Amino acid sequence: MMIIKSDSDIRLMRKAGAIAAGALQAAGEAVRPGISTKELDRIVESYIRSHGAIPSFKGYGGFPASACISINHVVIHGIPSEKILLKEGDIVSVDVGAYIGGFHGDNANTFPVGNVSPEAMKLIEVTRESLHQAELILKANVRLGDIGNAIESYVTQFGYTPVKDFVGHGIGRALHEDPNVPNFGRAGHGLRLPKGATVAIEPMINMGTDQVLISNEDGWTVTTVDGKLSAHYENTYFIDENCAHILTQV
Ligand code: MG
Repeated sequence: MMIIKSDSDIRLMRKAGAIAAGALQAAGEAVRPGISTKELDRIVESYIRSHGAIPSFKGYGGFPASACISINHVVIHGIPSEKILLKEGDIVSVDVGAYIGGFHGDNANTFPVGNVSPEAMKLIEVTRESLHQAELILKANVRLGDIGNAIESYVTQFGYTPVKDFVGHGIGRALHEDPNVPNFGRAGHGLRLPKGATVAIEPMINMGTDQVLISNEDGWTVTTVDGKLSAHYENTYFIDENCAHILTQV
């Protein structure tokens, strides 16, 4: 069941979203060759807690950290580790959620580590722009198929594929609410989002095949089957009458 938010709910969600966005920005500013993904996680957690919020992901389904940090062919849900160091030329996706005042905010960015190849930079830029393409059509009564199609039709022009096995989601008092928001779909089909819906839209875009695997070892880490790069962008949105507002803004 989709939960429609009131104006006061949205005020609270803006606060959660601002903290999630600030934590993500702090992580992005710390990205450099040689830093461990655990150190980035500490930066995220201390930002969130110092602003009076709780990391949404820590303990969620047993996830052991405050941020999901996913390098290169890791699509999502990478577990931060002291042993995993960023290196020049990597791309790193950081996904952060913050909970305060009874609501969550959820966002993700992919950052280049030092100088990256033009191909890797292109994937990052196209993934960021695919989220923007979806954003442009968001307003009351937009259909899920239109959102998915905006992302899919944009990225496939570049030979990339949206991941199908993981999708965006409603968000509010729970980190994941109805409905699922796929990054692919048929224009003119699917559920309509009414004014007051709040959704996290999060294209996960692969350079090669859309097929992904979940690690047997840790049960979390999602990688591309072909080992090619993947990028991830996410914002939390409030669907308004004639547009959508990004709630994950500093
Ligand atoms: Mg999310």
